[in-house]
Amino acid sequence: MQGTMMHFPLTLTGILERAGRLFGGVEVVSRLPDMSLHRYTYRDFHRRARALADALQAAGLRRGDRVATLMWNHYAHLEAYFGVPAAGCVVHTLNLRLEPADIAYIVNHAEDRFLIVDDVLLPLYEKFKDKVHLQRVIVVPLSKGPVPVGLTDYEEFLKSATGEFAYPELDENEAAGMCYTSGTTGKPKGVVYSHRSLVLHSLTEGMVDSLALGHQDTVLPVVPMFHANAWGLPFTSTMVGAKQVFPGPHLAPEALLDLYEREQVTVSAGVPTIWFGVLQALQQQPERWHLVPGLRMAVGGAAAPEAMIRGFDRLGIRVIHAWGMTETTPLGTVSYVKRDLRDVPEDKSYGLRAMQGIPVPYVEVRSVQGDAEVPWDGRSMGELQVRGPWVAASYYRLPDASDQFTSDGWFRTGDVATITPEGYVKITDRIKDLIKSGGEWISSQDMENALMGHPAVAEAAVIGLPHPKWQERPLAAVVLKRDAQCSVEELRGYLAQRFARWWVPDAFVFLDEIPRTSAGKFLKSSLRTRFKDWTWE
Ligand code: AMP
Repeated sequence: MQGTMMHFPLTLTGILERAGRLFGGVEVVSRLPDMSLHRYTYRDFHRRARALADALQAAGLRRGDRVATLMWNHYAHLEAYFGVPAAGCVVHTLNLRLEPADIAYIVNHAEDRFLIVDDVLLPLYEKFKDKVHLQRVIVVPLSKGPVPVGLTDYEEFLKSATGEFAYPELDENEAAGMCYTSGTTGKPKGVVYSHRSLVLHSLTEGMVDSLALGHQDTVLPVVPMFHANAWGLPFTSTMVGAKQVFPGPHLAPEALLDLYEREQVTVSAGVPTIWFGVLQALQQQPERWHLVPGLRMAVGGAAAPEAMIRGFDRLGIRVIHAWGMTETTPLGTVSYVKRDLRDVPEDKSYGLRAMQGIPVPYVEVRSVQGDAEVPWDGRSMGELQVRGPWVAASYYRLPDASDQFTSDGWFRTGDVATITPEGYVKITDRIKDLIKSGGEWISSQDMENALMGHPAVAEAAVIGLPHPKWQERPLAAVVLKRDAQCSVEELRGYLAQRFARWWVPDAFVFLDEIPRTSAGKFLKSSLRTRFKDWTWE
């Protein structure tokens, strides 16, 4: 027997229409390159996103055509997030931190037809324009300067709308967005988000036990809109009609804190790199900024060290630690203390929050070693595999990558994890970063997080290097806080109190900075190359 409910497609146009109709007066604020603030309301956003859809159709784009964006976080990118899919096309966000040759590869692989680019990013476009075949390049005049000859002014393009736009009848499984993973090895791989997956992801992300996004919130995504859809925040915020604030290209701690105060931001999101800086700025000048009490900061993309969670707590800022990937749209797990663990001692409670968390509804997890699922005992390590309605089932035009998907329908994340009996996922490493010493695995992330809890340490990365006797042994690369001093013996002793003796790194090196990927994660392959000829004493 079938249910008697309507067949109602889950498409982004529903979110756009609702926002225009119900939340017309809510503001969208964007920091422009010259530091000034651009303000308008959902009413303007709705009109302009529809005009963009209209103009794209009038310019000859067809269902499923890809429109690339090379943009910072701001109002026009938000318009593309909704306007492009509303035309039946696919918004393909390009990572502006990649090498020009990689961007060209991605544009060509995705067969992008149009590109929307910030005027301030035209110098980057110049570096790959001869390697791609775009039919039209539309320039957003953020700096109000003239648009180069041969390119289209975004504002003029919007004016070319016919005014007779009607939403196409979209199937919820049609592609709406696209993003290439910024992996540290191999060619980038394209993930294609459907309308349905983005809508379901938004519904889940807004839930109280997820990021708890509501209409009363003011949301500032620091995470770039070219990285896993800024973790879906622009979609979810628009769904609930929250005020949205975009930092543009200004991501320095002071600039962010200024926006938090000025716009009374209640929720922000980004990678730990950003929060290290914000936390330090706040600790150095605790009186300077007047932030909304209870400001929530979603931290993901890399592990949120316990010391960071505690540091923000002391300032009245609540860290929400979450795990996800480009392939999971990205929300997979969120860490909060379950009710039957409410009375655990404070240390244990922080330990839980520093884990990656429990799966959100409809994301299923398992940890697999060899062919067998390992028990949820909080100790057994295996590869984390996930499945769910917003988890990729394949990559775009990349049949060779099928080994990332299991024959029984799970996605192999490449992360190594334990799962506790209560269902908390704890990422211990990337598979390729695991250190194997004397036949036993050592988890680098646990030690990094512990090191980053030492008062003198700003950042730490632990890598495995070849060892004649043990196969591999750990080396810790440590960045000390400004003006801090600390000896190797001190760090060794500090770790020895917390870990088995054979886990403690044999070598410590002090660096000025840890190399990072375009997404701000530790680039351990670069460290391994740098220290590949290391000789153990
Ligand atoms: P990306 O697809 O670029 O977003 O990268 C996804 C990867 O980032 C995951 O596979 C993890 O290795 C890492 N990651 C994301 N969130 C976390 C987290 N909360 N803790 C540890 N690693 C994370």
